[in-house]
Amino acid sequence: MNQHLRMLMAAGALSAVALLWTAGAADPEPKKAPNFRTSATGYNDTPVLPGQKWKVHDIDRPRPAVVTPGAKLGDAPSDAIVLFDGKDLSKWEIPPRPAGRNKKGVERPRPTSWKVENGYFEIAPGAGTLQTKDKFGDMQLHLEWASTEVIYGDSQWRGNSGVLIMGRYEIQVLDSDNNPTYADGQAGAIYGQWPPLVNPVRKRGQWNAYDIVWEAPAFENGKLTRPAYATVFLNGVLLHNRKEVIGEMAHKVVGIYKGHGPEEPLALQDHDVPVRYRNVWVRRLKGYDQP
Ligand code: MG
Repeated sequence: MNQHLRMLMAAGALSAVALLWTAGAADPEPKKAPNFRTSATGYNDTPVLPGQKWKVHDIDRPRPAVVTPGAKLGDAPSDAIVLFDGKDLSKWEIPPRPAGRNKKGVERPRPTSWKVENGYFEIAPGAGTLQTKDKFGDMQLHLEWASTEVIYGDSQWRGNSGVLIMGRYEIQVLDSDNNPTYADGQAGAIYGQWPPLVNPVRKRGQWNAYDIVWEAPAFENGKLTRPAYATVFLNGVLLHNRKEVIGEMAHKVVGIYKGHGPEEPLALQDHDVPVRYRNVWVRRLKGYDQP
């Protein structure tokens, strides 16, 4: 046996050991300390919690579902619905709309899709709002966005896009770094309603991360019975703490609610300037005790 072959076999054996070790490492038997102690795994002689069917430390209460977190903060956990993983827009569509026309009434061709490249997707100005094929109501949403380094205008023309939750409630996306535009139009604003509590936006060309918890509004026969609430973090910094949403996104008027379903497509706004997005995922929210 020559030396090269021996080295290959040794490497193979090492790999096998590594594989076995990795497989076993998923649930290793912990080493017990000399002063190891035991405690009850629950109780049935404790008082019932107010407003709940469960007792304090109830032994019969269902344990929470196990979710594997992403490898690093911001990565999709195991129970997330990944809407963009860096490759394609197969979970998205641009709803049909009338042809664009210029000031002389001549039809203006529109791009038919947004652009995907280098692990992100970018607004193709004029293509129109991009929306998910699936519908979502109460959810946890993560997405990342970046303004382009080139600027196409000032104030509301600087890197304007938006997360249009349920296709109509906007969490603003804007290059609001050193941008004197109105407060309730800055990045992270519930557009036209509530400015973000603070402005932690990054410089143009850098990636920002939104983490949004959305409680959908409810309607009965088209009448509002419960408003929407938004909790929003930008780059890990709190912008809205379960803030009541006044109504749909509107420009220069007060937004109002118009009845819609409990779930609607999630949309991203085409405000006619390029903005980039990546790493988009959602988790549908469930109540307690639903493993
Ligand atoms: Mg916008």
